[in-house]
Order: sequence, then structure tokens, then C-alpha cells
Amino acid sequence: MRITACAFMLSATITALAQQKPVLLHNATLVDGTGGPVRQHVDITFRKGYIESVRPAFTKEKDTPKNTDIVDCSGKTVIPALISAHSHLGILLNNTDASPDAYTAENVTAALNQYERYGVTTMVSLGVNRDLVYELRDQQRAGKLGGATFLTAGRGIGVPNGAPGLNVAPDQVYRPANPEEARKDVDEMASHHVDLIKLWLDSGHGKIPAMDPAVYTAIIDEAHKHHLKVAAHVYTLADAKSLVNANVDILAHSIRDQVVDPAFATSLIYHKVWYIPTLALDEAFYLYAADPDVMKSQFFQQAAGPQLLAKLQAPDYAEKTLASPQTEQARKDHEIAMKNLKALRDAGVNVAFGTDSGAVAGRIPGFSEHRELEDLVAAGLTPLQAITLATGENGRLLHEINPKLSIGLIKQDYSADLIILSADPLMDVRNTRHIDAVYHHGALVPNTPPQN
Ligand SMILES: [Zn+2]
Repeated sequence: MRITACAFMLSATITALAQQKPVLLHNATLVDGTGGPVRQHVDITFRKGYIESVRPAFTKEKDTPKNTDIVDCSGKTVIPALISAHSHLGILLNNTDASPDAYTAENVTAALNQYERYGVTTMVSLGVNRDLVYELRDQQRAGKLGGATFLTAGRGIGVPNGAPGLNVAPDQVYRPANPEEARKDVDEMASHHVDLIKLWLDSGHGKIPAMDPAVYTAIIDEAHKHHLKVAAHVYTLADAKSLVNANVDILAHSIRDQVVDPAFATSLIYHKVWYIPTLALDEAFYLYAADPDVMKSQFFQQAAGPQLLAKLQAPDYAEKTLASPQTEQARKDHEIAMKNLKALRDAGVNVAFGTDSGAVAGRIPGFSEHRELEDLVAAGLTPLQAITLATGENGRLLHEINPKLSIGLIKQDYSADLIILSADPLMDVRNTRHIDAVYHHGALVPNTPPQN
């Protein structure tokens, strides 16, 4: 189940392979991603991109390992790097406006670099990708493209005149008219070795046409013939139940129209369906208007960039946003999403971690993932539980999608994707923003963001 060969190449790989000398993170406090108790005074050694050992810290001078780069982590906490199982690339220009011109190698690479700098070393671009994505993925696997490792759901499958309602290029999403066309779309993506299939089931509160059940049933069936998992954009409990009955693998958003019932939790467990809450999604519609202090930190401002910052800090932005009916709806949706996440997690459902960052302005690559951790804690999880979703649990989901991936844990033979934090994230989950260093597949990532 673990990889020994580097079949799934990472951007940092060339550097990491060249670097024969092991790195030892010495005397760290360790949160290993399993959700188990924190360990004090730990030494973590990695070499050639993979973790070699995790053991009690050496205490005697004479036991200092030779020919090793030693990083003193006394008083620091090491956690696995974060993973987003639901984000997007190439939709927005300057993090601000959706544009059919946004899907360029340059823009995608900039986003991948930003994720990586903020400690998100793996992300899933869950649909709305141009076919350029396959070329970029090949380049990354060959070690020629930097930034976070990404998986892709290719274009994904939406509805004619329906979801997703984004201003993107026509070749950025399929919109089949019938089940036969939908099967062809799946086959085409499978021929590109897409990592998974994405579909949209959402009537936008009855305002737009929803996907015909015959279409999504065909998509799921065809995807499973290709051994591909299917993630579905969903909003209502009724739609989620229909998708689960049609054998969907991943619900890519929270249920937000009503509180879920225990029978629903049982069916998710029975069918081994993953649930990605994306709490930061609805909140991003009003967060910056309701709580402008969020925007004060350099950590935020660097992630947002000047154009988005100007938009969010425009004189009429807060007033307009707070008065908009969309904000009222988003607040309600966010409240229900938090309740449902807590109930489903407590019931034992497989909960993953994602943000929908990159899809609309305000869902910001890198920042939104740290905000999502805070939202999960606000929903009632402990900081340790929240971090576990973003690391070990997401690693488990991505391993199901691609068995060559061993990520999300600080454990022997896992990819050396780690964050050194200068403050304790279990005391306050916002301390995941105090990033001293990020390692991606064993290589030190340059330009980590300011800590405040
Ligand atoms: Zn999305």
C-alpha cells in the first residue's frame, strides 16, 4: 500500500532527489495526522522525499547523527502539510474575477505556488479545468512545474444553462444533453487519465435546470467502469440521498437546505461515501464585510493580492454585501453546514477537507484552507480533529483516488510534506498560520507567508 518508487512525481522532486543528505527535524512536538495524541521531543528524519524515521529525540551530544542537516525544532510543532480535496485552478484572474481567459499555465502555476507557500502541498482541482490541465500535470510529474501537487477532475460535467454558473470558457466544462453524451464525456476524460469525475447537481433554489437523474446515473456508472470515483457538487439533502442511491463516492459540499437525519449518516457510512464540508465557501460571501479585521494580517493580504484586497476594502463593499439577500442565504447555509458537519463526523462518516478555494472571489488559495480549520473548530471540532481532516483523513481519501499517493501522515515511508509551526495549533487552531517552514516532498519551500 505504500510507495517506494516515486511514480507520482512532485514539483520538488528534482531538488529532493539530488539532496542525498537526510534532514532531521530535531526535538519537535509532533501532530502526526492520525488524530492520535500529540508527542513531545520527537526527531523526524527524511531523505529523497520520504520520511525515513519518527523516533524519540536524541538527548546526548554523542548521539547527534552525522552527515545530516539538523533543524532545531525545540518549542515548535510539526504537522503534516495540508491537503485540499476540493479547490479550483484557472477560474479567477488575480483571485478576483472569473474569466474565460484565466486558464493559462502562468495563472495555474501561480496558484499552485501560492497553495504550496501557505502549507497546502496537495490539492484537487475539482472540475472546470481546460484540457491544458493534463499537459500541466504531466509537466509536474516530470518535475518541470512547481507548486502544490495537484490532482484533477478535468472539465467536470454540468448542465446546459445550469450549474456551474461560472463565467468560464465553453471548453472548461461539459454540459451533456442526455445520458449518451454524458457517457462520452466520461470516456473522453478517462482517456486523459483524469484522477476522478466531477458532476454538478444543483437547481439553484429552483431557478436553473438541475441535472436529470438519468444523466448522473449514467455518469456514475460509466466512471465506475473506468474505476474512477465520482464527486458531486450538491446542496440539498434530497439530491444527496439520490446521489448516494446512485452510488456516488464523494459529496463535495455540505448539505445546506436542512439538518440531516441519522438515517442519512448511516447510509453514508454503509456506502462508504466521503463528505467534504467546504464550510469556508458560504462564509466567504460575507466574511470580509462582517469581520473586516480578518483582512488586517499580512498573512491574509499576501494571499488575497492587491486586486482582491481593493475590491474587499472598497468603501461600499461592506454595506452592499451585508444588505444583499445572498448574504442572508449564505449565513443560513453556513449555520446548517456547521451543524451537519458536526453531526456526520460524530456519527462516524468519512469526512474530508476542502474549501472550494479558487472558485469565486474571497475563496483564496492558501488562506481559505487555514480559515476552514478555524470554521471546523467553530462547528465544534477540536483543533486536533480539524487538523486530522486536512491531513490524515484527506490523505486516506486521496490514496483511495490514487493508490500511489502516501500523504497526510508523518510516518515512515510517507511523502515528507510537513509544516513547522512556531506556535501550538492545538491551543488555538489559528496558530497553523505561524508557519516557520514548509517542506514539500522533502524540499524546503521558499517564501513562506508572514506569520501575522
Ligand atoms: Zn467547487
